[in-house]
Amino acid sequence: MGDWRSTAAVVIIGGGIMGASTAYHLARRGHTDVVILEKDLLAQASTGLSAGGIRQQFSHPANIRLSQEAVRVFERFEEVFGVDMEFRQVGYLFLAQSEDVWQEFLTNVEIQRQENVPVEALSAEEIGYRWPYLNVDDLRGGTFCAEDGYADPYMAAMGFANAARRLGVHIEEQTRVTAIQIEGGKVRGLETTRGPISAPVVVNVAGPWGGEVASMAGVDLPVRPVRRQVFVSARFDPIPKPVPMILDIEPAFYFRGEGPGILMGMSDPDEPPSFNLNWDYSFMEKVIDKAVHRAPILEDCEINRGWGGLYAITPDDNPIIGALPVAEGLFCAVGFSGHGFQQAPTVGRILSELILDGETSFDLSPFAHDRFDRVAGKAETRVV
Ligand SMILES: Cc1cc2nc3c(=O)[nH]c(=O)nc-3n(C[C@H](O)[C@H](O)[C@H](O)COP(=O)(O)OP(=O)(O)OC[C@H]3O[C@@H](n4cnc5c(N)ncnc54)[C@H](O)[C@@H]3O)c2cc1C
Repeated sequence: MGDWRSTAAVVIIGGGIMGASTAYHLARRGHTDVVILEKDLLAQASTGLSAGGIRQQFSHPANIRLSQEAVRVFERFEEVFGVDMEFRQVGYLFLAQSEDVWQEFLTNVEIQRQENVPVEALSAEEIGYRWPYLNVDDLRGGTFCAEDGYADPYMAAMGFANAARRLGVHIEEQTRVTAIQIEGGKVRGLETTRGPISAPVVVNVAGPWGGEVASMAGVDLPVRPVRRQVFVSARFDPIPKPVPMILDIEPAFYFRGEGPGILMGMSDPDEPPSFNLNWDYSFMEKVIDKAVHRAPILEDCEINRGWGGLYAITPDDNPIIGALPVAEGLFCAVGFSGHGFQQAPTVGRILSELILDGETSFDLSPFAHDRFDRVAGKAETRVV
């Protein structure tokens, strides 16, 4: 822990990749009077527990644009930040079983191609030819983007955090924000477990705690923490590397290569909101069932570890990004619903513009905090 600073131009609540990227983007424009407050340790919450998927295959153009810019940052990450974040552009394969989902995919392909995403639409036969370990008997088709892939989210977050630190940003770990002070319609500062800090700008990038932190400012943001479980196998050679990120969309199951093994996970539609981080054996068995159905050879793999992490979910599966009008100086980027790691480079840039310039050229209307009264249903389809 560093010397306590009782004042700053900008205080960022949350030391995950969103906070680290925002601090870096502020600092690279010369604004270094910035403090990140992290209740635990850097990048050990959702960021460190993420599956690390990076894709441009979204259904909403705004999500495509957020990820597209980020892919370009990740491609040059080592050169710019001096950190190998292990970005593997080995592709992302979406699989459809039913005709309805296949038609949805084809609509998405049109949207993605309009945004210049190099996506391919593949028949079941082509999928079986290119990835012979997959059971394609019940598939209608799939889409594949070779520029997509996965990376190590912890290394990426630490790359941003260390670059921000080198530029002069202060990072205080094991420091929990307990209150946000607002006076006369303006942010004045914060209370923390290590003392007060005054600041005219406060950024809520508290991930699954984003709703809790927003309520400290009297704002009700519909962000719920929901557990997602991930399992990793021991060394598994029968499937040739590299293994792309493969998403079997209807059962919401995915797997990919992870070092010498295989990483797999699945959404549980019955998972209630909570801060539970345990993984459970009975759910692992359900995941293995789906795995063996899609890639029968996985029957021989041995799972040797697993973990639970938290998604920060909103009603339409899109994040809430922007200024919160309840008080001048209050900003947020929360509720990424399972796709925040890959979007953090762009979101950090956007937040820095909102804070320093009062505006951004990125159209944030799909991510407005007050959209939920106007629009029902999912804005981003098929989030796993
Ligand atoms: C199992 C799993 C798989 C995922 N897979 C993917 C994927 O494939 N691709 C993808 O893009 N995304 C994925 N995600 C989502 C991704 O991990 C998140 O969207 C992203 O990490 C969010 O980053 P963040 O910085 O907003 O949140 P976090 O990393 O959670 O950081 C928020 C930080 O705020 C801190 N904090 C909270 N409250 C306070 C307080 N009061 N005071 C101080 N600090 C506080 C927390 O301790 C935490 O460190 C996955 C997530 C999980 C759990």
